[in-house]
Amino acid sequence: MREVIYMTSLELHKSLDNIEKIRHRSYLTDALISAYELDKHNHIRFIQPQLATDNELASAHDRDYIEFLSFISNIDPDDEKLYREQMDVYKIGYECPPFEQLSSFCKWIGGGSITAARYLNRSSNNIAINFFGGWHHAKRSEASGFCYINDIVMAINELRKKFDRICYIDLDLHHGDGIQEAFYCSSKVLTVSLHKYEPGFFPINSGGLNEIGEAWGRGFNINIPLHHGINDNQYLSLFTSLVPKINSSFQPEVFVVQCGADTLFGDPMKSFNLTTKCIMNCVEQIINLNKPILLLGGGGYNIADTARLWTSITSLCLNEKLDNDIPEHEYFVYYGPDFTLETWPGNRTNKNTQEYIEGLLNFVEHNQINIMNSQIL
Ligand SMILES: [Zn+2]
Repeated sequence: MREVIYMTSLELHKSLDNIEKIRHRSYLTDALISAYELDKHNHIRFIQPQLATDNELASAHDRDYIEFLSFISNIDPDDEKLYREQMDVYKIGYECPPFEQLSSFCKWIGGGSITAARYLNRSSNNIAINFFGGWHHAKRSEASGFCYINDIVMAINELRKKFDRICYIDLDLHHGDGIQEAFYCSSKVLTVSLHKYEPGFFPINSGGLNEIGEAWGRGFNINIPLHHGINDNQYLSLFTSLVPKINSSFQPEVFVVQCGADTLFGDPMKSFNLTTKCIMNCVEQIINLNKPILLLGGGGYNIADTARLWTSITSLCLNEKLDNDIPEHEYFVYYGPDFTLETWPGNRTNKNTQEYIEGLLNFVEHNQINIMNSQIL
């Protein structure tokens, strides 16, 4: 049986509570995992992450940006207006405002995913989980969409010290634009993102089908732009036909999967109709390929549904079937009125036709899988 390591610590929880939209989410997740007694399982190990160093942050970001994050988190909020110009350059403000613990927040988030990646580098064929990482929008020197630093890019760079070919799969509702940008010219990191793609939807004008990579990376960036209201069947049919092709053409040595939970029907983003079962099925397909995996978190603004999904994924890694009735525990009231683990499929208008889904698969097959087949010898 594969060993599962799970990154968590009180410092990580405290840091995450600085982000208002996900406040308490990490506590709920860990508490639900404990309520189901998965923390007592013989094959899971809880690991406290180490703080990332400035050098480690610099594997994904420019040094001036890292220095500015540290600087701005230490000044008096009344003085922020003096640095407005620089804040605009680095996109600090609005969704990504400065706060007092910003510098340590970045180091804990980055440290969590780097510690997990390092563990995979040392062991063979295991599963590492950092649901408190997965901040996929941050760019080299810009904050974006609640993301100040990109722990995923750091983790992938760490994994590259051991593994030659890495497949990154982004299941979040939003396009994984920060990862795409970081590895757009690389044939060593295949990035795959399934996301909502509609005019005006964040990140705007990012994640189109034609963004397939450049130079050495041409063909190695796969975008699956989806419309509003996709359901479990369509999402799964796409994923199930894509993953075996990617696996045989690209032959990745390790998978990194961002398990954002904002695709679920109950998410305040009000976009897709998916259930936890659908996302679990996707993750299970990756687990069954029997290669090392780094599982990360991401979006998910219905915090109870997010805890439901991440607990379910943890049980999947441990091959444990969980009772649908949530056990009584400290955060039990968050799971009403049904107090069940599974989530309901939605009934939003589905704007994805069967022809559209088939068209996406055809495009990837002809323009990208073929390129990979010709390059990986
Ligand atoms: Zn998202």
